[in-house]
Amino acid sequence: MNIILLGPPGAGKGTQAGILVKQRGMLQLSTGDMLRAARSSGTEMGQRVAGVMDRGELVTDEIVIGLIDEALDGARGGGGVIFDGFPRTLAQADALAGLLTRKGLSLDAVIELRVDDDALVDRITGRFSCGDCGAVYHDRTRPTQVDGVCDSCGSTNLKRRADDTEESLRQRLMEYYKKTSPLVGYYHAHGQLAVVNGLAPMAEVEAAISAALKPALQTAGDS
Ligand code: ADP
Ligand code: AMP
Repeated sequence: MNIILLGPPGAGKGTQAGILVKQRGMLQLSTGDMLRAARSSGTEMGQRVAGVMDRGELVTDEIVIGLIDEALDGARGGGGVIFDGFPRTLAQADALAGLLTRKGLSLDAVIELRVDDDALVDRITGRFSCGDCGAVYHDRTRPTQVDGVCDSCGSTNLKRRADDTEESLRQRLMEYYKKTSPLVGYYHAHGQLAVVNGLAPMAEVEAAISAALKPALQTAGDS
């Protein structure tokens, strides 16, 4: 089963993807994580996208489609793929459909995590994550059990993203509404969209996603 998690920055895509990875053995493909990895390893592409990311704008379709194309080749078998933060434009959505068809894969569900903008400032400014295993935390809603130590892997390498500021969030939200939110209508028109209340507590969001995936699981299992 291959699915997309759709929603603005801070909606909870990475958090819920992490749960699906643990529970269902799915593979999380986050273009944001891939781009940050390219930056920190200092590749030519990483250097090229750094300024764009720092400004909270979208990097080119060509770059992220290339990343997903490559990542999908290593993603055969297992519990399927979670697209997290991709697609973010209609061109990316069309390219994803083409890639999946070419590789003999299906898109089984698109989950929109619907949230109010008001909640996002707190979500984004309180976010930190483990630099080693990627577990996502929040100062107030999901602190680590032991201060400074990752619950999942025990690492003390906890980090905050440079772009997780109120100012950058404003720009990233603008990009979301201009370029990404049309995908809600796009996937609704394709009969693939399920809307989940992303403002609910994490466990409730998890349960709602599970319920929304049931029909897709059935279809994927039948095919
Ligand atoms: P995204 O990947 O969509 O940008 P994240 O999963 O990183 O969002 O979540 C953003 C922040 O909000 C993180 O600090 C996370 O711990 C917190 N968070 C995620 N889901 C919820 C929730 N349902 N309720 C409260 N806080 C949440
Ligand atoms: P994220 O980790 O999803 O919040 O993404 C962080 C940043 O990476 C974004 O603000 C964009 O600059 C860039 N980015 C991530 N995914 C995409 C995408 N699919 N298309 C364009 N830019 C992206």
